[in-house]
Amino acid sequence: MALTLSAKLQKKFGSGFALAIELDFDTGFHILFGASGAGKTTLLDCLAGLTTPDEGMISLGGRILLNTSTHIDVPTFQRRVGYVLQSQGLFPHLTVNENIAFGLESNRPNAKVEEIMREMEIAELQDRKPGQLSAGQRQRAALARTLVTEPRLLLMDEPLAALDASTKSTIVNVLRRWNEQRQVPILYVTHDREEAYSLGERLIVLEEGKVIASGAPQHVLTSPARNAIAQLAGFENLLQCEVVAEHPEQGTMSCRVTGTEVVLEAPLTRVAGPEVVLGVRAGDILLAAERPRGVSARNVLLGRIESLEQRGVLVRLFVNVNGAKFEAHVTPGARIALGLSGEKNIWLVIKTYSCHLLSA
Ligand code: ADP
Ligand code: MG
Repeated sequence: MALTLSAKLQKKFGSGFALAIELDFDTGFHILFGASGAGKTTLLDCLAGLTTPDEGMISLGGRILLNTSTHIDVPTFQRRVGYVLQSQGLFPHLTVNENIAFGLESNRPNAKVEEIMREMEIAELQDRKPGQLSAGQRQRAALARTLVTEPRLLLMDEPLAALDASTKSTIVNVLRRWNEQRQVPILYVTHDREEAYSLGERLIVLEEGKVIASGAPQHVLTSPARNAIAQLAGFENLLQCEVVAEHPEQGTMSCRVTGTEVVLEAPLTRVAGPEVVLGVRAGDILLAAERPRGVSARNVLLGRIESLEQRGVLVRLFVNVNGAKFEAHVTPGARIALGLSGEKNIWLVIKTYSCHLLSA
C-alpha cells in the first residue's frame, strides 16, 4: 500500500491561533512553506504525536495514528515518524557511528548503521566525534540517526536553516536518493522563499493555520491564492515569461514577458520548458528619471507610471512597460528627488540577479 499521509486536524491555542488543516500527500519531497507563526511546527508536532489536536484524524498508509472521535492516539514512539530539527544534539562523547546506533533499540553499531552512513556519505567519518565535524557533517549524522530507525514519515523542521545553500542542496540530494528506495512521505518545513522554490517538487503553503495552496511550484504560483503567496514569498512582481534565448557564455537567458515584447535577462537556469515565472521584489527595482548610462544592470526599461500611492514611509508605484506591469517601491525622499507622479515616464533598472526563477 502506498504510504499516503492523510490528516484532518484542528487545534486552538489560548493565544487565539487556530490550526485547521486537511492534507493528503504521498511519498516524496514536500515543502511546507509559510511565514513565522503560520503553524508549521504545530502541524508537525500534531503529526509526530507531540501535540494532541482538539479534533482530528491522522492515517499513514492506511494505519490510523489518531482519531479523536474513537479515542485512538498512537504514542509518538510507536508512530514510526522521524522528526528532525535544526539543533539536534549529537552526544559529544560518542563517535558518529555510536551516535547513529543510539537511535536503535540495540544501541550498537550494526549493518543498518553501516548502510545509512554510506547513504548519507559519512562512512569515512564514523570514528570521529561531533566536535571534529563541520556543521553540514553534523547535520548529516543527526539525520542518519533518525533515518536508521526506518521512519515511515519524515518530518523536518527547518533542519538545514543554519547551513549554506550548497551544503543544503547536497544534503537534500542525499535525502532524495535515500527516499528512492524507501518511498516515504517527507515534509520539509521552511520559511525561506528561495528554499521553498528551489527544493520542492511539491509545495504546501500555510497561512494563519490554513493550507492556502498546494501543488507544483509553478501551479501554486498561478493558483487563485497567487497574490497572497507572492507577497508571502516577498515577490510583488510575478511575471509569466517564455525563455526566448539562452546565453551560456554570459550565464544568462532572455525571457519575454508573455503577451508583450518586453524581454528580461535572468540568470541561466536549466528549465523543463520555455514557460517560466520570474519573481522580482518591488524593492529591487531601481528608478531613474532619465535614461541611465553606464550601469551594469542588463534590464533597463522605459515605462509609464500608472498610479502611485504612499503608505507611511513606503511609496508604491505601478508602472506599465509596454504592457508588462511592474510594482516598484521607493522612499518618500526618492519620490520627491525624482519628481514622481502619475502619468510620467520613468526608467526601471533591474539587475539580472534580481530576476528569480520561481519554477523550473
Ligand atoms: P511556525 O512554526 O509556522 O512559525 P508555530 O506552529 O510555532 O508556527 O506557531 C503558530 C502559532 O501558534 C503562533 O502564534 C504561536 O505563538 C502559537 N503557539 C505555538 N505553540 C503554542 C503553545 N504551545 N501554546 C500557545 N500558543 C502556541
Ligand atoms: Mg516553527
